[in-house]
Amino acid sequence: MDKIKFQVLFTGSEGNCSLLSYKDTNILIDAGFKTNKKMQEILGPVLEKVKIDGVIVTHEHNDHFSPWTGRLCMENEIKLYVHEKHIAGEEDRKTKYLSFTDKRKGETKYVNYEIIKEDDPFVIKDIKIEPFTAFHDAAKTLGFVINNEFGYLADCGYISNNIKRKLENVKYLALEFNYDIKALLLSDRHWSNKFRTMGKFGHLSNEEALKFISTLKENNLLQIVTLHPSNSHCDLKKLEEDLKNIGIKYSVSTREGNPEIIFDIEKKGEKI
Ligand SMILES: [Zn+2]
Ligand SMILES: [Zn+2]
Repeated sequence: MDKIKFQVLFTGSEGNCSLLSYKDTNILIDAGFKTNKKMQEILGPVLEKVKIDGVIVTHEHNDHFSPWTGRLCMENEIKLYVHEKHIAGEEDRKTKYLSFTDKRKGETKYVNYEIIKEDDPFVIKDIKIEPFTAFHDAAKTLGFVINNEFGYLADCGYISNNIKRKLENVKYLALEFNYDIKALLLSDRHWSNKFRTMGKFGHLSNEEALKFISTLKENNLLQIVTLHPSNSHCDLKKLEEDLKNIGIKYSVSTREGNPEIIFDIEKKGEKI
């Protein structure tokens, strides 16, 4: 049977991009790079190996979606899947996300894009994607359920009942594990930043994420991948210990250089 393959190419506040493949379909979840140099460094080797069929965007913060996302799509003829709120203000922006004018050649290129909506599933070749609303301080933040078995949720300050319902049956989950509550509170960050991070529309603490996966483990959850660690308030060694205690197969992502994961556990108790 064909398996979902997943690789966290880049994650954290500097940028986010994951590659998900199923059968002959390859998609990127977010492609938020702050510079072209970084994007080429991370995605250059990937684009040499696979043809990307679509980029799906979680939200419009520039570590997830930036003008470089648009350039990537234009230059490689990739379709972009965005919520209408992700592209609001495009007309007024000095730097366009969805078009690029080469002044020397006098040419303008446009991104081929499709508007997606929460709770309205869409298909990219072999992959079915169901977007749902996450809690975060962007105009619109989405999580995704893919092929009814894989969940993706980054940048989400609060696990609402709706999110619980959307993810309750997934077997595999990529979830934000952003910060240790104590480490953040004791840090010298400005209090307003601490409140923003810890708020309902901020980021998910490791404690909350662990609690959530403990409940999903009672259902169908078999394997998880952590996303979006804070550089300074997320102790990855401690996180590994905590995940070990939960007794689930896990991969702790570092900012970049993560291996490909093939989700190959079918039932509980297999190969864990
Ligand atoms: Zn982010
Ligand atoms: Zn964000």
